[in-house]
Amino acid sequence: MESSSGPSVITNYPTIEPRGLRDRYIGTISEKDLGASVTVCGWVSKVREHGEHLVFIDVRDFSGIVQVVAHSSVELRAEYVVRVKGKVTRRPEGTENSSLDTGQVELTDSEIELLAQADPPPFSLTDRVEVDESTRLRFRYLDLRREKMQSNLRARARINSAIRASMERQGFTELETPLLWTPTPEGAREFVVPSRLNHGSSYVLPQSPQIAKQLLMVSGFDRYYQIARCLRDEDLRADRQFEFTQLDLEASFVSQDDVMEFISDAVMGASRAVGLEHVDPIGRITWRDAIDLYGVDKPDMRFGHTLIDVTDIFADTQVRALSAPCVKALVAPNPSELTRSKLDGLVDRAKALGAKGLLWLRVESKDGELTLDSPVAKFISDAESRELIAKVGAKAGSVILMVADEWQSACQVLGQLRLELGRKLADPNQFTYVWVVDFPLFEGMSEDGSLISAHHPFTMPNQDDFDKLESDPLSVRSQSYDLVLNGWELGSGSIRIHRSDIQARIFSLLGISTEEAKNRFGFLLEAFRFGAPPHGGFAFGIDRLTALLVGEDNIREVIAFPKTQSGSDLMTGAPKPLEKSSWDLLGLSVKPVSKNQI
Ligand code: ASP
Repeated sequence: MESSSGPSVITNYPTIEPRGLRDRYIGTISEKDLGASVTVCGWVSKVREHGEHLVFIDVRDFSGIVQVVAHSSVELRAEYVVRVKGKVTRRPEGTENSSLDTGQVELTDSEIELLAQADPPPFSLTDRVEVDESTRLRFRYLDLRREKMQSNLRARARINSAIRASMERQGFTELETPLLWTPTPEGAREFVVPSRLNHGSSYVLPQSPQIAKQLLMVSGFDRYYQIARCLRDEDLRADRQFEFTQLDLEASFVSQDDVMEFISDAVMGASRAVGLEHVDPIGRITWRDAIDLYGVDKPDMRFGHTLIDVTDIFADTQVRALSAPCVKALVAPNPSELTRSKLDGLVDRAKALGAKGLLWLRVESKDGELTLDSPVAKFISDAESRELIAKVGAKAGSVILMVADEWQSACQVLGQLRLELGRKLADPNQFTYVWVVDFPLFEGMSEDGSLISAHHPFTMPNQDDFDKLESDPLSVRSQSYDLVLNGWELGSGSIRIHRSDIQARIFSLLGISTEEAKNRFGFLLEAFRFGAPPHGGFAFGIDRLTALLVGEDNIREVIAFPKTQSGSDLMTGAPKPLEKSSWDLLGLSVKPVSKNQI
């Protein structure tokens, strides 16, 4: 392939012996081979006729591209599949192509055998041409011929391979678990597969192998892993597909720190596998600090501008908009870009994010003193102004943004603005992993007074918070942890509840009756009666990790055959209507499609 687009991740082919119709991969041909006769196979990239049957053809396989000179009577066109036997010859002086790895040589005296003809491709297969995504997805097999997609998917294979190597090294056993399964408690909508043999019943496609892997711990497998396909019927976005792939692991008799170490080894291995030698050691932040400083539970720590608590300064303020349980401040990144109309836009944005308002204050230097300029400045006392400027470390020209609200809401709104304003400060070549720990066990309370799990119902509470389970459940921390990379949540995990008395307490807080628990997870609870080891695990998304490591914003760029945002496969036409006879076989009938669905 052309070397102009950076280092290739296709690095193992020189050591592999080509078989069958060829004796060389194109990318391995170099000046060392001058005079040798080689046989290669591939696709025609370009044809240039030079009269009298003399043709120059660029022939491409996955590893590279080479110029072939031939006296050919065969008519060749782009994307025809050929086999070429030729002599490696130095290109005449002045005709070398430094953008090709093989650019110093060409194949001469070539014999060309046509293996397959090709219709003209519906779009150019060079990376230099932007092609509409729906066309790319409609002809995905051609899109995948492009160098970028080859490189992305091969990077993904190397990441998988590094993950497997890490798991094997750490004593994990790869085990497969069913796809036709029963509901798993990850909280997303599930895909159902109606049963032909048991009309009226269905299987459920697993949201993750969660329950299966916990059962494998009861079985004594000690350390399990799987590169698992998970399915969730949720709206699709840039970082979400119906089906996604994760490294799923579970281990017995381990602590949270142990699990985090297993995973750290795997992601470091994966990062090295795509050529990132210098990744910062993985840091750690509590959930509380992440919200407090970054306003999100998946902080992008590649740039500063953290949120600053200024509640105390405004404890007795005259500014009504600032009298709230919490006042948070952000020194805006790129203040010189914040014109008056941009600042007004930010106020609207903050409201759209759920804030009651946003105060902005521009810091100015007057007679050697820093003062505030803002529509509300005249209501802010001198003492408040001085303390604020000192506490946030503002300078002349700084813009301070403030949101006053409940702690979490104030942090979340300002955290989102931090990201939107500061994203440009993040170095795209920096990879900063961070563990977020000490999540709350419950993320809130539903209208009927039952609590809602933040992770899933099998998550073990923090040992120090057991006493507060019934008295102050929302303050209980869990033994769960997330891994975040550059502001993306890669995955999460927890130490599980392996004791039925604790599990019963949690179910009761979650409003899950004994009857319901038995119906939904009876087999797991039963298994736990036969000696369950303490255990814990983790899973992280390989699509997301790969996208980040290869610098793509959308996971579709690292999946061979993804679905569109509306869940369809433009190449196969799936999902397609079923024949009536197929529904009959499943014992089902379908309502006519309503007009507004068409
Ligand atoms: N099953 C969880 C998930 O898919 C991961 C875990 O708790 O191990 O997010």
